[in-house]
Amino acid sequence: MTSTPHSAPCRSPDNPLSRPATTRPTHILLRYCLPLVAVHALSVLVLVPALWSWTGVVLCVAGIHVFGQTITMGYHRLLAHRSFTTPLWFEHLLVIGAMCCLEDSPARWIATHRMHHAHSDEEQDPHSPLVTFLWGHLGWLFVRNQATHQSGNYHRYARDVLGDPLYMWIEKHPQCPFWIYLAQCALYAVAGFAAALLWTDATGAALFAASVVVWGVVLRTVLVWHITWSVNSLTHLFGYRNYETEEHSQNNWIVALVAAGEGWHNNHHADPSCCSLQHRWWELDLTYWEIRVLSMVGLASDITPRRSVRAANRGTVRGSAPRRQHDGQVGSIDAAVAVDVGGTSRA
Ligand SMILES: [Zn+2]
Ligand SMILES: [Zn+2]
Repeated sequence: MTSTPHSAPCRSPDNPLSRPATTRPTHILLRYCLPLVAVHALSVLVLVPALWSWTGVVLCVAGIHVFGQTITMGYHRLLAHRSFTTPLWFEHLLVIGAMCCLEDSPARWIATHRMHHAHSDEEQDPHSPLVTFLWGHLGWLFVRNQATHQSGNYHRYARDVLGDPLYMWIEKHPQCPFWIYLAQCALYAVAGFAAALLWTDATGAALFAASVVVWGVVLRTVLVWHITWSVNSLTHLFGYRNYETEEHSQNNWIVALVAAGEGWHNNHHADPSCCSLQHRWWELDLTYWEIRVLSMVGLASDITPRRSVRAANRGTVRGSAPRRQHDGQVGSIDAAVAVDVGGTSRA
């Protein structure tokens, strides 16, 4: 890293990036489209005064962080980049939490993200905002992309993930994330209804339970979606760059603030395996510090340091037992961002 800002590689306005040639704009993915539209529509219920409660608001705000971390910490830094390790039960807990966000199965999420790293801001990038902002933010989710929906993609980008029997089982039961999401809604509703019966009648309890679901699950889901999507869209368009990477990744402090550090995206693209996205002292990466806290209580280990530290340590770790991947494969930490991508990764 140098102290001077770096500009992104130029792309002429007359020559915008094309969406992936493997996408079929006429082939709408209803299994993505319907939940996205339905949950957004249901979130409008927060405007109904009878469905407002302080408990719902607190659950929403707290849930944005807690469930957001299952995506950021669980799907992204743990599974996609293997930038730290954690006990298997805790990893599975993070994954169940991530599916409560309705952001796809673990193998599909990780494969898509590794594909993004391998082809950032090129035509094959599944969600580059250089096509259009809306395409990069959420448009790519609505249409079929042959490249991301074929089994070969899993084997290329998420083979290690599918080595876990739970994740393979989830992949073989594509309705599973939806049932987990609905079970979450039921849990919130039953808990809210039972708790409210302590101070009100059945009608009041039903309204309270509805407020807990509408605010604590539905609105939270929408907000976590847009925070995640902002990392895909805003941080490839707006911000500053510490590193001269080959794509358009930017460090965006607003996204970093709402996404617990994920907005330092240029830092991340410059060193995807590194657990910390905090490359300057003031670029606060809350997720990294939470992982450090987890390490103090035995829930995180093998935290991958910066590339310079890894290079310095390489001599000392050579000859010691190599790190073992979750599926039993022995893998390079530097290659963890994109397992078997045929050398196309920019990691
Ligand atoms: Zn990116
Ligand atoms: Zn990443």
